[in-house]
Amino acid sequence: MEHPVPVVFFSRCLGFAHCRWNGEVIRDDLASALAAKVEVVHECPEMAVGLGCPRDPVRVVRDGDTIDLLQPATGRSVGAAMREFSATYLASLPPLDGYLLKSRSPSCGWKDVKVYDTPLPGSAAKPGRGLFGEAILARGDGLPVEDEGRLKNFALREHFLGGVWTFARFRQVEAAGTMAALVRFHTVHKLFLLMHNQREMRLLGKIVANSQGLGIGQVLAEYRKGLGWALASPPKYGSLINAIQHAFGGFSESLSYRDERIPASVLLRLVKSWALRFGEKYLLEQILFEPFPLELVDLVDSGNLK
Ligand code: SF4
Repeated sequence: MEHPVPVVFFSRCLGFAHCRWNGEVIRDDLASALAAKVEVVHECPEMAVGLGCPRDPVRVVRDGDTIDLLQPATGRSVGAAMREFSATYLASLPPLDGYLLKSRSPSCGWKDVKVYDTPLPGSAAKPGRGLFGEAILARGDGLPVEDEGRLKNFALREHFLGGVWTFARFRQVEAAGTMAALVRFHTVHKLFLLMHNQREMRLLGKIVANSQGLGIGQVLAEYRKGLGWALASPPKYGSLINAIQHAFGGFSESLSYRDERIPASVLLRLVKSWALRFGEKYLLEQILFEPFPLELVDLVDSGNLK
């Protein structure tokens, strides 16, 4: 299967520069493997707001109703600068297909970032977001967002990669700008979408049917929005089995054994071999069986995250 080349934003310290507060770079196998397959856009927001390298670490701090980014060692506040940089920088980017961020960073982190209750030493902290990560989510573009820590989990990794390549394929549809391209996209993604979210898959089908006779630009914009909702959460294992059974009713008996430790891609490879054996053309075209390049399937799972 031919795959497009997605455009993905990376936090710069994920292999591209020694820009962490202590002058280090993160060596991460998945980030490197992914970077080799996509067009990379990277930036270090802390360097961009002039914090230098090496630097004293910053932390996210709640101060009344506002959230700031503080450098405790110097008392410097860079919250406003980081927000301004984030807005200007993100608006300047080319169309993207996803974001891979540094986990738990007070700037790039998008989950489980320590947000301190007060600027005082010894303050308690709650989980929140870094300021740049927050600005990415505030774009509301529906694109896949992950961090290198969570990608050690195969279910999250396959969900992220599948989403990135799906949005890259959808950009090709937008470039073609025709209903024929959209119909084809929807047809080959049907089982993939069914696995993620049956309700949204049907709503996307209605957008494609275009009973209101909207112009192609509006149809594509609606579809893109719906695609983001459809792929918002990783599919449940039961939905994967349902999607396969839907396509391959005759084999449902063989799929009655559910072992959630088996990555979806492994199960799908098995089913694809059946489709090949029985010459099921409709099934062989389905993106479900290879939503992203196979070379990215076999990275090792740490098993630490769920
Ligand atoms: S996490 Fe973000 S801000 Fe921190 S070093 Fe990496 S790229 Fe720079």
